[in-house]
Amino acid sequence: MGRAHILQRDQVDISEYCLKEEYIVEEVRRFEHAVLTARQQLRAIRDHIPPATAADIAAFIDTHLLMLEDSALTQEPARLITERRCNAEWAVKIQRDALVAVFEEMDDPYLRTRKDDVDHVVNRMQRILLNQGPMRHEVPDSRLRGYIVLADDLTPADTVLMQHHGIAAFATEHGGPTSHTAILARSLGIPSIVGLHQARRYVREEDLVIIDGISGVLLVDPDPETIRYYEGLQRQERVHFAELIKLKGAPAITGDGITICLEANIELPKDFESVLNVGALGVGLYRTEYLYMNRDRPPAEEEQFQVYSQALHALQGRPITIRTLDLGADKQVDSSTGRERRVLANQALGLRAVRLCLKEPGLFLPQLRAIIRASALGPLRLLIPMLSNLQELYQVLAIIAEIRAEFRSNAVPFDPDMPIGGMIEVPAAAMCADLFAKQLDFLSIGTNDLIQYTMAIDRVNDEVSYLYDPVHPAVLRLIRIIIQAARDHKKPVAMCGEMAGDPRYVRLLLGLGLRDFSVHPAVLLEVKKIVNNTRLAEVMSLSEQVLAASSSSEINDLLGRINAGLN
Ligand code: PEP
Ligand code: MG
Repeated sequence: MGRAHILQRDQVDISEYCLKEEYIVEEVRRFEHAVLTARQQLRAIRDHIPPATAADIAAFIDTHLLMLEDSALTQEPARLITERRCNAEWAVKIQRDALVAVFEEMDDPYLRTRKDDVDHVVNRMQRILLNQGPMRHEVPDSRLRGYIVLADDLTPADTVLMQHHGIAAFATEHGGPTSHTAILARSLGIPSIVGLHQARRYVREEDLVIIDGISGVLLVDPDPETIRYYEGLQRQERVHFAELIKLKGAPAITGDGITICLEANIELPKDFESVLNVGALGVGLYRTEYLYMNRDRPPAEEEQFQVYSQALHALQGRPITIRTLDLGADKQVDSSTGRERRVLANQALGLRAVRLCLKEPGLFLPQLRAIIRASALGPLRLLIPMLSNLQELYQVLAIIAEIRAEFRSNAVPFDPDMPIGGMIEVPAAAMCADLFAKQLDFLSIGTNDLIQYTMAIDRVNDEVSYLYDPVHPAVLRLIRIIIQAARDHKKPVAMCGEMAGDPRYVRLLLGLGLRDFSVHPAVLLEVKKIVNNTRLAEVMSLSEQVLAASSSSEINDLLGRINAGLN
C-alpha cells in the first residue's frame, strides 16, 4: 500500500516554430540556461550516488557532463537558433539527429553505441526546456521510499534502482510474468503486477493505491473497509512466514524418505544473505548479468574474482552455481557503457547468452578466468546458458581448457574438478539432452526459456503470456526427456526456472523424477513444506497420467488430485 508515483518516460514530443527576429537573443539565452541546469542536475545526481552503487556509475555521469561541455551540444544549437530562427527544443533536436547519424555510420560497435549517450543528454535538455524536470527515479534523493511506481515498462536495471529507492511496489503496463523484471521483483520481494494495460490512465500522482500481486489487482483510492481487509492479509502473510521460517533448519525429505535438494536462485550479490536465512543448501543459479548493469564498463576479471570469492565466503562452504553471462533479449547492456539499450524485435531469438559470449571474447574471457580462479577457494560450479548445439559447448570447453593450461603453467591455483553444467532451455537441446548429458557434469532445466521457445511466446510480451503454460504436454514431455537423459548418464539434473518454485507444480515435478530444485529464497520454505508433505509413491502414478493426458481440463483435474491436501 502506498502513494502512487507515475513514471512517464515516453519520448519528449518536440515541434518546430519560427521566431521573430527580436526573440532570438532571448531564445539563445533560454537554451544556454537549459545547458547550465542540465549540468547542475547531473552534478547533483553524481554527488548523491549511494555508496552501494557500482563505482563506475559516477564515470557514466561524468561522460554526460563532458558532453555538456562540448561545442556540439553547447554552441551548435545556439547557432542553429540564430540562423534558422527556430525554437531551442527544435535546434537541439536537429543537432541530435545530426550527431546520431554520424554515430550510426560508424563501423566500431563501441562508438556506435555512444549515440545512446547523445539521446540521454539531449532528452534531459529538452525536458528542461519544456519545464518537465528530471524523472524522479533518476534523482537519488527523490523520496520514492514507500511509493508505488506505475510505469509503461521497467527494465531489470530500473528495478534494481527502484529497490535502492525503497519503493513499496510497482505495476507496469507491459511485460510478461517470467520477464527478468518480474523475476527480479519476486526475488527482491517487491510486490508487483506486470502487463496491466492502461494502468497509468486511471491513477493520478499521489493517489493511494494497493497492489495485490497475488491476484494481480491494483486498487485505487480504496475505502477504509478495503484497507482493513488488506491490512488483515498483510498480517496473515507475516504469520504464514513466521510459521514457514521454523522449517529453515529442517531437511527437505518426502513422507516416504527421499531427500530433495533445495537450492536458491540469486540475482544480486547482496542476496547471498537470504540464501542463509532460508537454509538453502547452496545456490543453484547465480545470474551474473546484474553485475554488468547500471555501470559504465563491464566488470574486469579481478573485480569478478573478488565478487565470487566474497560469495563463497558468505555462503560458508555451500556450493554456488555461477551461470556465465546471459545478456541479450530482455537484459540488454551496451558493451561500451553498461547501460541498458532498447529491446529490438525478436531479441529472444538473437545474439544472447552463450552466443553473445562466444562472439565477444572480451566479455566472456574475464568472467571465465575469474570463475576458474575462484574455484580454488570453494565449491563452485559453472553453468552455461542457452546451449543449442554441441559445437557451442565444445567451444566453451576449449576456452576453459586453454585458460586452465595457462593457469597451470603460471602456477595460478584452480580446482580442476569444478563441475561444468549446461542449461537446457532451448527445445533443440532438450530433445538432445542425452548428448549434452554425456559431455557435461550436470544439467539445469531453465523452464522460463524452455516454455518461451517451445510455445513460441516472447516472455516479455504480455499479449501472448496467456500461452505460457508449464503443464502443456509438450513442455512436460521435454522435461521428462531431460530428466531421463540425465538419469541414463548418471548426471545430476536440477530445475532453476520459475516453474520449480511454483507451489502448483512441485508435487508434479517430484512425480516426474525431479530431485533438485533451485528457487527464489522467498519461496524456498514453501517448497520445502510441500516436499515434506508429499509421498512420492502417491504422486508418481498421477504424474504419469498427466503426461498421458490430452486436454487441459484433464490435466487440471489431475493436478487438483496431485495437490490434494495442499492449501
Ligand atoms: C530459465 O530460462 O528458466 C532461467 C532460469 O534462466 P533465465 O530466467 O535467467 O533466462
Ligand atoms: Mg533462461
